[in-house]
Amino acid sequence: MDLGIAGRTALVTASSKGLGRGAARALAGEGVNVMLSARGEESLVATVDEINDAGGSAAYVVGDVTEADMPARMVESTVERFGSIDIVVANAGGPPVMRSMQIDGEALAKAVNDNFMTSVRLVQAAVAHMGPNGWGRICCITSSSIKEPIPTLSLSNAARVGLYAWAKTAARELPDGVTLNLVCPGMHATDRILDLAFEGRKGDPDDFGRIVAFLCSGPAAFVNGSAVVVDGGALKGLL
Ligand code: NAP
Repeated sequence: MDLGIAGRTALVTASSKGLGRGAARALAGEGVNVMLSARGEESLVATVDEINDAGGSAAYVVGDVTEADMPARMVESTVERFGSIDIVVANAGGPPVMRSMQIDGEALAKAVNDNFMTSVRLVQAAVAHMGPNGWGRICCITSSSIKEPIPTLSLSNAARVGLYAWAKTAARELPDGVTLNLVCPGMHATDRILDLAFEGRKGDPDDFGRIVAFLCSGPAAFVNGSAVVVDGGALKGLL
């Protein structure tokens, strides 16, 4: 299938490894110019080089996407480097393991900043460019926990469900031609999941990236305000 996005430009945050890397690789494979970001430069350069060596068009910006001014700076860097921004994949590292009776205001505030407000800031900065062009695709990487909370990840559960509510609201306010969706991974074989030592069947981050690329495509124009779960069927509920 032709996704119809060759020549477009994407910013994929938190993308030197894991799911963000999968999304960047998939978009680059579709002929999209890709700006990648992460805090550590070494892995970032390795992923960017890998994409460019395979014939893609990738650049990078180093920085912590959870700092308040960084999303706007990353959007501007993308426009400066490639001349436009058409696609944003908003991603950041996940909160630490914490049971619900253990959370405190400081930990919750950090989770809300990192996994809610960071995406909000990215969307707001990007839409300012996409609106006048009448075309834009935004995907926020969240978690299947917005449908079925994960007991040990109460911070993630709380922050991400807030983002879902916000994105569902915002999707109806976007300029014509711009869509906003959440992509909700179940377990995938990434460093984070290996660190957390979660057991069970795990998806391939590159396959996840291809789902993201489809949601950022031309044919996905009518998918808006959706939360697309990619979990191998792990969730037990109907909704
Ligand atoms: P990962 O393998 O640990 O990779 C995280 C990537 O994000 C790395 O490139 C990392 O590079 C970058 N990063 C982390 N924090 C950052 C920050 N503050 N600013 C900029 N870049 C940052 O993680 P992952 O498994 O792909 O997970 C990605 C997101 O999906 C997380 O929020 C996670 O909670 C969520 N999620 C993952 C799964 C799963 O199965 N993998 C399931 C549900 C939800 P640097 O460290 O160099 O910055």
